[in-house]
Amino acid sequence: MKPIPAKARAVIIGGGVSGCSVAYHLAKLGWSDIVLLERKQLTSGTTWHAAGLIGQLRASQNMTRLAKYSADLYVKLEAETGVATGMRQVGSITVALTEERKHEIYRQASLARAFDVDVREISLAEVKEMYPHLNVSGVVGAVHLPLDGQCDPANIAMALAKGARQRGVGIVENVKVTDVHVRDGRVTGISWESGGERGTIDSDIVVNCAGMWARELGARNGVAIPLHACEHFYLVTEPIPGLSRLPVLRVPDECAYYKEDAGKMMLGAFEPVAKPWGMAGIPEDFCFDQLPEDFAHFEPILEMGVKRMPMLGTAGIHTFFNGPESFTPDDRYYLGEAPELRGYWVAAGYNSIGIVSSGGAGMALAQWIHDGEAPFDLWEVDIRRTQPFQQNRRYLRERVSETLGLLYADHFPYRQVTTARGVRRSPLHEHLKARGAVFGEVAGWERANWFARDGQEREYRYSWKRQNWFDNQRDEHLAVRNGVGLFDMTSFGKIRVEGRDALALLQRLCANDLNVLPGRIVYTQMLNRKGCIESDLTVSRLSETAFLLVVPGATLQRDLAWLRKHLAEESVVITDVTAAESVLCLMGPRSRELIQKVSPNDFSNETNPFGTFQEIEIGLGLARAHRVTYVGELGWELYVPTDQAAHVFEAIEAAGEEFGLKLCGLHALDSCRMEKAFRHFGHDITDEDHVLEAGLGFAVKTAKGDFVGRDAVLRRKDEGLSRRLVQFRLADPTPLLFHNEAIVRDGRIVGTITSGNYGHHLGGAIGLGYVPCRGESEATLLSSSYEIEIAGERFAAEASLMPMYDPRAERVKA
Ligand SMILES: Cc1cc2nc3c(=O)[nH]c(=O)nc-3n(C[C@H](O)[C@H](O)[C@H](O)COP(=O)(O)OP(=O)(O)OC[C@H]3O[C@@H](n4cnc5c(N)ncnc54)[C@H](O)[C@@H]3O)c2cc1C
Repeated sequence: MKPIPAKARAVIIGGGVSGCSVAYHLAKLGWSDIVLLERKQLTSGTTWHAAGLIGQLRASQNMTRLAKYSADLYVKLEAETGVATGMRQVGSITVALTEERKHEIYRQASLARAFDVDVREISLAEVKEMYPHLNVSGVVGAVHLPLDGQCDPANIAMALAKGARQRGVGIVENVKVTDVHVRDGRVTGISWESGGERGTIDSDIVVNCAGMWARELGARNGVAIPLHACEHFYLVTEPIPGLSRLPVLRVPDECAYYKEDAGKMMLGAFEPVAKPWGMAGIPEDFCFDQLPEDFAHFEPILEMGVKRMPMLGTAGIHTFFNGPESFTPDDRYYLGEAPELRGYWVAAGYNSIGIVSSGGAGMALAQWIHDGEAPFDLWEVDIRRTQPFQQNRRYLRERVSETLGLLYADHFPYRQVTTARGVRRSPLHEHLKARGAVFGEVAGWERANWFARDGQEREYRYSWKRQNWFDNQRDEHLAVRNGVGLFDMTSFGKIRVEGRDALALLQRLCANDLNVLPGRIVYTQMLNRKGCIESDLTVSRLSETAFLLVVPGATLQRDLAWLRKHLAEESVVITDVTAAESVLCLMGPRSRELIQKVSPNDFSNETNPFGTFQEIEIGLGLARAHRVTYVGELGWELYVPTDQAAHVFEAIEAAGEEFGLKLCGLHALDSCRMEKAFRHFGHDITDEDHVLEAGLGFAVKTAKGDFVGRDAVLRRKDEGLSRRLVQFRLADPTPLLFHNEAIVRDGRIVGTITSGNYGHHLGGAIGLGYVPCRGESEATLLSSSYEIEIAGERFAAEASLMPMYDPRAERVKA
């Protein structure tokens, strides 16, 4: 065994493709004194048996960017390291068997084009020409990516390992990390064990790249890495005479992919109901292991495969392969620093795309560790999106049985998972359910997305066109615009920041001025050093020394981590009080009349103007009424102690009859906020979006003194903006916008839609998206002609820098 140092700048745990890539990229950034420890042999976990598909077509722009980086890197790696990676750019074809799937793959092609990925929609004749063995019956559309490829996964990892070693990384096999040491909320090092020998390494940085072992290892330090292994299958035929170089082929509607390799055919499966594995833990001696074959489980895919690829009917089967791979509750991997522990980094949970993802993910994580800030928006895969409850093994087991198959299912907008539901519920859940609520899930929370009418089916019927709830959303939307609607937003994250130095901490972290009188609410962002947005929130000053921060439910762990990370010597207590209060949002021009019926307090502009809150009596209980809105109307967010929420709901509902009060869901909330161009964190504003370019300069007060990101704001003011967030409305009222459609300016793709929904009041699909504009005036920017490309078709769009709905905020201040 090689000598193991007593000290290292970083310790990487796990020698699969993930760990090797992180090591390679840290070394490439000039880091020395890095050690990678592998409990058995490099690649002996999952990496050795991957199918080796390298596909760049991903569902979002930054995932496409990372996959493209991997593909480019793997092409160069062999020349750099001398290790034959087997990387062959044979191209790939994805075929659609339904019109809905065709729409999806065409949308992905539009998105990929916006990122310079070479992709083309191809005809049936071209499919047949490129893939003569394929039975094309039922194929209605196809896309071709000539630079996609296939590789030898183990050798990709070995090449990355060699590249890392060449730059000085110490890679030691047969050494298991047994413990991560911690002091004062920070990593201080690890303990290792090897053949009876034991030792420690001091280090401030540990990177958990332990694949399907990552959850258990993290749990020892209270770090949530919710993943669970599933059995994952493919078969390889005996050599088939005459079979030679073919593109990789995906037939997602039949849950299958095909890969030609050395004259044999591989058929891999993404079956709808998968088999979780390793419930009682992973055997200690697991090393290059495979799992028992299960022909009955694979058979339905094989039957479709034989029809689709008739040669399979006569070819002999060389291997039925079954190997474990880790899957996560939302089919996205984990990257970044764990919110629970400083210095504990994670790159794991790859959902069967670890080979194609690890090149890019390793690069991004290394840069993140190096700079202390993510190099670009990685929220989609950020470990801070996890919820503590998701460590529950039964929850994971049930959920991953679904998520494996979802990778090849139709990725319809608003698609909801169906397993392991109902974990986090508002106290109003049963009330809303009894009144027709159809729920969706975010961060484990069940939230009413829309309300079915009497007799209407309470199910989603998914489509890329108008779904079955479109009219329900319209009615709810218009009730908010013209009357009054009630939303349950209990899922908001709520954080109390209290203590002698609470104001000082928040003034240092927030861009707006929080030195306001108790009773005021301030809309603000927390910025990083680049002036980009880490968090979007409202802060209510409860007293001289206490503040309530309200954040989206999905970002709570991230926001808590950001606050705690920046807490220096200040005397401040930060507490998650999410479960203590429910939030009922009463919104619409008639909300004042209605609230006045259930509360004796004064809700006039004099007593409770916009941006203030007051303690109120309501029904037989008490609440805090916050005069703010996310739908752009007069309204109040009522913060009600959880135990009184049902009572307050009933009181409002009874009084609301006279005003035609409508229960509203999250879909209507979103369509209303789109008309008002209110930004949504994670989509329109992220940690790579500068606060001024996001159009939120009004909430930045550089005159208040120093705060994180202030210098970057001042710099950008001097330099001028390089892009701006623009609101679009399609002229044609039929097409819909969701997310990621291409923005076309004067005939050229310049960006993508960051979020979209239907403007039921404005009468067309509304989207937000960034448009490059260096050195341009607003007038020049708006004088261009704009179109939005949806699945290859272009639609004329009106563009605006001011909200198209109520630009002067007169309704909000009514
Ligand atoms: C059948 C199948 C087909 C696949 N096909 C593809 C494909 O075509 N394309 C694609 O991109 N992906 C594919 N994948 C997925 C891909 O193989 C994985 O996502 C990837 O290999 C995961 O790499 P990893 O480094 O995270 O995990 P692993 O390869 O499992 O590496 C983790 C390592 O950590 C080590 N370790 C664990 N605990 C410790 C400890 N305490 N101390 C030291 N070391 C430790 C383990 O021994 C292991 O070697 C496929 C997977 C399967 C099962």
